[in-house]
Amino acid sequence: MTEPAIFLDRLSKSYGDIHAVENLSLAIAPGTIFGFLGANGAGKTTTIRMLCGLVRPTSGMAKITGADVWRQRHIVRSKFGYVAQRFSLYRDLTVEENIRFFGGACRVPRGELPARTDRLLELTDLKAKRDVAAGSLSGGMRQLLALACALVHEPPLLFLDEPTSGLDPVHRQQMWNLLYDLSHRGITIFVTTHYMDEAERCTEVGFIEKGRLLAKAPPRALKASFQAKLLEIEVEPVMEALVRLRGVPGILGVSLRSGSLRLYAADPEKLVTEWKKQWPFPELRWVGHRWAEPDMEDVFTAYSQGYDAVLKLAQS
Ligand code: ATP
Repeated sequence: MTEPAIFLDRLSKSYGDIHAVENLSLAIAPGTIFGFLGANGAGKTTTIRMLCGLVRPTSGMAKITGADVWRQRHIVRSKFGYVAQRFSLYRDLTVEENIRFFGGACRVPRGELPARTDRLLELTDLKAKRDVAAGSLSGGMRQLLALACALVHEPPLLFLDEPTSGLDPVHRQQMWNLLYDLSHRGITIFVTTHYMDEAERCTEVGFIEKGRLLAKAPPRALKASFQAKLLEIEVEPVMEALVRLRGVPGILGVSLRSGSLRLYAADPEKLVTEWKKQWPFPELRWVGHRWAEPDMEDVFTAYSQGYDAVLKLAQS
């Protein structure tokens, strides 16, 4: 078996009483685009910071391409690029100077820097901004520059912490096209996101909740982890129905989707049978129902809300 690009064995980090990451174990194969999903405060950034050797694990261990991320952190540093959640570039330096600065810091041979800088400016579509101060770039371009800087030493692995947060759809698409490009070149990508359409684009997804890994599998397997299709109903007025149905026994949760209500229930067929016999809400008008295929938003809702009754728990 090929050595995993990233390997975690009961990795944990506590800050006093806060268990930011707890017994996280997983293996990620080279070339994977791994999407790391979880609510705010779930432990994603702490995990990435441990993997980058920036935070010392409380217990457990992690390896990148076979090297221990803490004990061998000086060696490991050359193996990855890191795009942090916060803007980490030098605002007063130009686009080109930032890339060259990071190149110098990562010990890229001087003679190779001009050609690499050109390649990275081309790749990130920043050639026209070469002499512009980083601080005056738009949010999307800053992220592309951050990516260029993270790639200057040509690492086999890339960590990105919410790289598309706050970006418009065009820049989000551009960022993902680039990630695909890099993945095709064999780079392993570990990316955190709150966007479910981005989770769909990953080859594998992990869900973390309160520092613990709930599931890890390709998006298709996660969607297949639902026990059954989801019940979607059309009821009027819809907002009143949303609130009313949330309190009904047997319904774990309700979400609004394009004007319809999607229900998470252990036995949705029973609900439909009962409601067809007798609709129990005289103040609400039943219009119709259909069965929907779960998407990643459903998966995320089910895992993060603990709707175990609708899931066959997935772990690859
Ligand atoms: P977000 O999506 O908001 O970035 P996250 O999933 O990245 O969240 P973390 O930033 O890893 O979550 O935080 C996990 C938990 O650890 C949170 O409860 C957070 O408050 C806590 N935490 C993180 N860093 C520290 C620190 N340096 N000191 C104390 N607590 C911390």
